[in-house]
Amino acid sequence: MAKESGFGYTSLVRDCYRSGGYVFARRAGSAGEGKETCRVARLASNENPRPPSPRAVEMGCRALREGNRYPDERTGDLVEALREYHGPYHFVTGVGMDGVIETVIRTLVCPGERVAVSTPTFSFYGLAAIAQGAEVVNIPRNSDFSVDTTSFIRGAKDAKLSFLCTPNNPTGNVTSLEDVEEILTSISGMLFLDNAYVEFCDTDYRPLMKKHENLVLGRTFSKAFSLAGLRIGYAFVPEWLVSCYMRAATPFALNSVSAAAAIGALGDREHVPETVARVRDLRKKVIEECRYPVFPSGANFVMVDVSPLTGREMADRLLEHGVLVRSCESFPGLGPHYIRVSIGEEWENALFLDVINAL
Ligand SMILES: *Cc1c(COP(=O)(O)O)cnc(C)c1O
Repeated sequence: MAKESGFGYTSLVRDCYRSGGYVFARRAGSAGEGKETCRVARLASNENPRPPSPRAVEMGCRALREGNRYPDERTGDLVEALREYHGPYHFVTGVGMDGVIETVIRTLVCPGERVAVSTPTFSFYGLAAIAQGAEVVNIPRNSDFSVDTTSFIRGAKDAKLSFLCTPNNPTGNVTSLEDVEEILTSISGMLFLDNAYVEFCDTDYRPLMKKHENLVLGRTFSKAFSLAGLRIGYAFVPEWLVSCYMRAATPFALNSVSAAAAIGALGDREHVPETVARVRDLRKKVIEECRYPVFPSGANFVMVDVSPLTGREMADRLLEHGVLVRSCESFPGLGPHYIRVSIGEEWENALFLDVINAL
């Protein structure tokens, strides 16, 4: 049994260990080995609880046997597979979408230039931009977390690069194609549209790539494709951006095992639709059965208003019962009363509902 680290909840859970594909936790204060343990519902990171497609596993294993060789720097086979999957677009790849975001910022933004971020949202945009010496401008969303296009356009006016996440992490809401298009035609800089959860919603932003030269669509294999551990991200980019991106990118960033697994995953036309159908079903159930207000979501997670408790307090109480969720207190501009809960396996969602509804 391997010890599990990295949860950072040492005040409540003494230690965690992995067994039979599950994580178990021992309560703080419980002395005996194996006593007071519980199976942990992992609903904090928006992962896909299903294992990767067997095709991804097989291709990854095969590539591992040739691990003595450097990978193809341009990840040509993966780009080819992406074209087969999506159509004749231009792509760049990276170490997770986080890696793509970092490289896009390095490609486009000089120190002192402005980066605009529609908040509250995923905090990595701001962090990566600051690391690059950019000046970050946060543009608040409306109180229902929809994007106020007028204020977004005003705030993004002098920005070299702007970030908009849809479906948005952590609020879950989807920005309409019309609103994105209005933004694209009104700003002078680039727009990075983060589509990490796009498979779980009804909106397809890809057609915008055909009409706009200032759009980057970020995608990941970490969520719907069940490959979070392999760190594979990519983006739809305008053609002119490909060579600039390649110059700014770390050489050989994406390893050959991950690239091969991604190709295998794209070749499995059932894994994602099955995942999406399952998530939509279970998401509906969680929204209907939770006693606290749950926000509408186009993603594989929901945000819950846990007032009068704070997100931290609720997350700690849930963890005492073996349910790991994300307190949203660290998302700037959101306020203290929210948690984000991934749609997990059926038993995980049921445990979450049992515990929160009994509080
Ligand atoms: C998970 C996530 C990503 C990136 O995931 P990677 O694992 O780095 O590919 C990007 N944006 C948002 C909003 C996410 O939630």
